[in-house]
Amino acid sequence: MSGGLDATHDPALRSWVASANRPDSDFPIQNLPFGRFRVDGQPWRIGVAIGDQVLDLRLAAQARALPESLSESLVPLAAGDLNAFMALGPGARVALRRALSGALAAGSVAQASLSSCLVPQARAELGVACEIGDYTDFYVGIHHATAVGKLFRPDNPLLPNYKWVPIGYHGRASTILPSGQDFARPWGQLKAADAEAPVLRPTARLDFELEMGIVIGGANAPGEAVPIERAEEQVFGLTLFNDWSARDVQAWEYQPLGPFLSKNFASTIAPWVVTLEALAPFRRPFARAAGEPRPLPYLHCDSDAASGAFDVGLEVWLSTARMREQGLGAHCISRSNFADAAYWSVAQLVAHHTVGGCALRPGDLFGSGTLSGPRPEQAGSMLELSQGGKQPIQLPGGEQRSFLEDGDELSLRGVCERPGAVRIGFGACSARVLPARPRP
Ligand code: CA
Repeated sequence: MSGGLDATHDPALRSWVASANRPDSDFPIQNLPFGRFRVDGQPWRIGVAIGDQVLDLRLAAQARALPESLSESLVPLAAGDLNAFMALGPGARVALRRALSGALAAGSVAQASLSSCLVPQARAELGVACEIGDYTDFYVGIHHATAVGKLFRPDNPLLPNYKWVPIGYHGRASTILPSGQDFARPWGQLKAADAEAPVLRPTARLDFELEMGIVIGGANAPGEAVPIERAEEQVFGLTLFNDWSARDVQAWEYQPLGPFLSKNFASTIAPWVVTLEALAPFRRPFARAAGEPRPLPYLHCDSDAASGAFDVGLEVWLSTARMREQGLGAHCISRSNFADAAYWSVAQLVAHHTVGGCALRPGDLFGSGTLSGPRPEQAGSMLELSQGGKQPIQLPGGEQRSFLEDGDELSLRGVCERPGAVRIGFGACSARVLPARPRP
């Protein structure tokens, strides 16, 4: 497993990019997440976030401010191809991290050449960081699975396979949208309990799902299982992910094969991928409570048990059209934590996904599943927060919400903090709900 600390994690490290040194910055020099951006309609570039700036890696390669030994790994980055860089593996990523840390550190001689390679994030259009190949959505949030199971099947909330097999389904990558891209309320087929036949109409139960995205960086050949001891070598990093869901469509369509159109109309991904190296100070033991079943041997290794969890504090912020008209800021409707919510570790997901021979490729994406905390107010979906619509949540300005309405803007945030480490963040994963399109 990766996860060692080195000089790049030194909490005393400061950058010559002044905004990176602000205590509330998501992107101090200890973070250095990757993203794809463009300015004024120019071609997409790969960059690294530092403070309120993006370091343009094409310009940085041209400026020759980084060690010569990195020139090979800078080629795909300069070409705007994060997938090809990810395929080079953790070694290239660690070497680049160390070089960027040194070059962006206060007092570096590289400041003179790299300062002209910075673009203000406010001027940049931020896209999806890589080409996403295949997308799989898991269901690791046990508090979510239990709460939703109670709503759909009161007598049988958690199905018997849940604690043995990481549940997931294969989704679609084609409708994963960059943060900031709004989307229309989807139409779908749904059926009221007392109706004889279903109807096609815009969903009346539009929801969000607070998830982490797991970006796969490595490849395994078809037929080749990735052992859990090496599973994290296949992971490039983590990001924020909102799996928008149409609950009324889902309730009608989900049996027997699981979600389909209720999940494939839009998912929003944050622009920045935070590498496993940046997350190293925020690892926690991945422990199951006493009495829980011990995972099958292919889903267990000592290093995963020792540090397989990621301590990422998560927040959900909602702003309605009326709140914005009234000049009210976004309202935090939920807080939870990846480590407290997840029943399965990232390494277990990789090991399980490949155990039968499924090939993963650089740029594949896993959604974690909804990361609700153990308490009701830590729920990661409206379905849970409003108890299936029965108890609307109250918003500043007097509005209520059971599910999302047109004009609502939802923003996910993620932050890692602990004593002795510099706080790092994931940026925002945001989008606004637009009215449904005309009848298809
Ligand atoms: Ca989901």
